Amino acid sequence: MDHFLYRDGALHAEDVPVAEIAAAVGTPFYVYSSATLLRHFGLFEEALDGLDHTICFAMKSLSNQAILTLLARRGAGMDVVSEGEYRRARAAGVPGERIVFSGVGKTRDEMRTALEGGIRQFNVESEPEMRALSEVATALGKVAPITIRVNPDVDAKTHAKIATGKSENKFGIPIAKARAVYAEAASLPGLDVVGIDVHIGSQLTELAPFEAAYRKVADLTEQLREDGHDIRRLDLGGGLGIPYARSNEAPPLPLDYGALIKRTVGHLGCEVEIEPGRLISGNAGLMVSKVIYIKEGEGRNFLILDGAMNDLIRPAMYEAHHDIVPVTEAESGVEQTPYDIVGPVCETGDTFAKARNMPPLREGELVAFRSAGAYGAVMASEYNSRPLIPEVLVQGDQFAVIRPRPTFDEMIARDTIPEWL
Ligand SMILES: *Cc1c(COP(=O)(O)O)cnc(C)c1O
Repeated sequence: MDHFLYRDGALHAEDVPVAEIAAAVGTPFYVYSSATLLRHFGLFEEALDGLDHTICFAMKSLSNQAILTLLARRGAGMDVVSEGEYRRARAAGVPGERIVFSGVGKTRDEMRTALEGGIRQFNVESEPEMRALSEVATALGKVAPITIRVNPDVDAKTHAKIATGKSENKFGIPIAKARAVYAEAASLPGLDVVGIDVHIGSQLTELAPFEAAYRKVADLTEQLREDGHDIRRLDLGGGLGIPYARSNEAPPLPLDYGALIKRTVGHLGCEVEIEPGRLISGNAGLMVSKVIYIKEGEGRNFLILDGAMNDLIRPAMYEAHHDIVPVTEAESGVEQTPYDIVGPVCETGDTFAKARNMPPLREGELVAFRSAGAYGAVMASEYNSRPLIPEVLVQGDQFAVIRPRPTFDEMIARDTIPEWL
């Protein structure tokens, strides 16, 4: 459930008409609902109730400072994948002991920043990274708490670009090698081995792959304990999927996911961490765009919007589906016609949907892309010199711009011309 509903025929973000925001900030823009973000975070809190746990929001899905601040005040930790994200999390008031650092290519500079600023743990993904971290920590006179990300070789049954838990993916160490790698980690002076990490992919719509992975992690926990490691923390990653199309079957609920965690690893007495991104932020955001033209083509009609692939790249990159709805509700029973819904960017890939049935629309009308809160604004670019679109946060009947749209002059002024030119 989200808080983007029609009231008297007008799409609202909580208590604010979306058209009112469009009039104030111009299109296209992203709008997020605080109530939806907090509700989704609360679902995980509820799901893990009774377990010693930390929920680290995967902030790569949505990293605006206002969003991080909102979640941090609710007690969220953060899963960061770069120094930039680490610094954003700290700037939003997240203490180091609630930040986990993931990613296959952490640099020594990034390690240093996190060690000096405070960190809950590094999720280490390879032996060379492990050795580098030990050296960096030792040089600083510190000990780095680590888990090692294992690749359990399970098929997450998701889009190939976001599956991470098969042996051919670049992530983690093969689970079969884990005992040897843990033995080496324990021998390195700058590391404190605290647990195991696993993350098998994103937008998982079934629980079975999680179950397979977590059972392997449970077995590994027992083996590693036998080997003398004090495994006390399990980071179970993120990846729970969301419904992108209203018509589809609903993906598993956080409550069922929580029950699965308790069933598979609950008996081990470990502190449990999870790193949900999309499930918290995805359905908490819309991208709102305006129809520029309706163009009649041969055998098909195009709805040309002012939003484009540079603003929301998921359809071009992952063949992702977003429901696209008119901001002024269509009259019930009105006839729908198919459109190819496209943006103005000079790429055929700038297509949001093909032959999508839409109610009658006119030039100048507003449409909203649902489920655009995750991997939307964060993946935007200024391709075609289209300035980054603004982000707006709603809470009840209030709204505020949380990242303004740069002016054209600001965009141009970011470049510098060498003296010698
Ligand atoms: C991307 C990512 C997540 C979040 O995935 P969602 O599908 O957004 O929940 C969590 N952990 C790691 C290591 C990731 O790379």
